[in-house]
Amino acid sequence: MATENKSKITVTSPLLPSLEEFNGMLSQIWDSKWITNNGSFHRQLEKELCEYLKVPYISLFTNGTLPLITSLQALRVTGEVITTPYSFVATTHSLWWNGIKPVFVDVDAKTGNLDPDRIEAAITPKTTAIMPVHVYGTPCDTERIQEIADKYGLKVIYDAAHAFGVEVNGKSVLNAGDVSTLSFHATKVYNTIEGGALVMHDEETKRRIDYLKNFGFASETEVVAPGINSKMDEIRSAYGLLNLRQVDSAIEARRKAAKTYREALRGTEGLTFFDDINGVRHNYSYFPIFIDAEKYGSSRDEVYEKMKEQNVMGRRYFYPLISEFTTYRGLSSASRENLPNAHRIAQSVICLPMHHALTESDLERVINILRK
Ligand SMILES: *Cc1c(COP(=O)(O)O)cnc(C)c1O
Repeated sequence: MATENKSKITVTSPLLPSLEEFNGMLSQIWDSKWITNNGSFHRQLEKELCEYLKVPYISLFTNGTLPLITSLQALRVTGEVITTPYSFVATTHSLWWNGIKPVFVDVDAKTGNLDPDRIEAAITPKTTAIMPVHVYGTPCDTERIQEIADKYGLKVIYDAAHAFGVEVNGKSVLNAGDVSTLSFHATKVYNTIEGGALVMHDEETKRRIDYLKNFGFASETEVVAPGINSKMDEIRSAYGLLNLRQVDSAIEARRKAAKTYREALRGTEGLTFFDDINGVRHNYSYFPIFIDAEKYGSSRDEVYEKMKEQNVMGRRYFYPLISEFTTYRGLSSASRENLPNAHRIAQSVICLPMHHALTESDLERVINILRK
């Protein structure tokens, strides 16, 4: 089929600060000659993020994977950790890097999030923590997960890479569990090019994390732990300060795009999507649709290829499941029988183009491919 030379509609597009304003901040950095190591923009971004996100403490990182790895160190998590196969590989990789055995538990078919009803059956004497993911920014059932964690004395580390700014009844979802991690990668709702953060509830944990992300240095001459280097530099902190000023309007543009998709696609046989949840402030980080091949008349992959032919880039996010990758597929918890919902979702999902810069005509092109 001809592509009709239509311009490419990408699945995401980075939110970029004004180049002029960024240049102004670069001049300040050049003047100060302080380019990394807890500089003033780094400190300011931590402060402003705490306010924006409504969280007590935050520690900036150089990407969204290192806060996962570092928090497991900080909380001294060992043995086995219960986690979800329906996520980006970094979630499970962070366990592997700490010598921890991932134990996959199936997800809730309605949300794609770890199913609390299946957690207890997977707990063994070696289990020390639960690592859930707020997939697509949809909040996990944090109360149920905390109840289970308290009952068995487990830590809870949320991979909240998708949940920037997500609130439930006016409270940040990032305050759930022991810690939450964020990714500020270029593809996310809020980006610092590469970047990330760890959200914690107390000053002691913040201090310990700040040591760990700086080789374990507690002072000029004291190293208190085998830390790593995962500090965010001044240039990306400055970029992040500028992007924070426009992230609300970006989320609003995403909300409108989601509304357009929903209005146009609702009722399409064999095609489903999520609706907003009452009391939740969503960030519209992704717009996943789920194709039931039998009812829709074509398979997910056929739809995905058809979009591609029309220069519309969807993304099969998350497919394959993490439990299908060579590193993990030998684990007994990685079996298909253990993860039926995750498999079903992974086989049917396409994330549609979703970002702040989509135009009405972009949305129309996507919708016309999908609607019948
Ligand atoms: C993006 C992402 C990460 C990793 O973040 P990076 O900043 O790319 O290292 C981790 N978990 C999930 C669920 C993600 O989507």
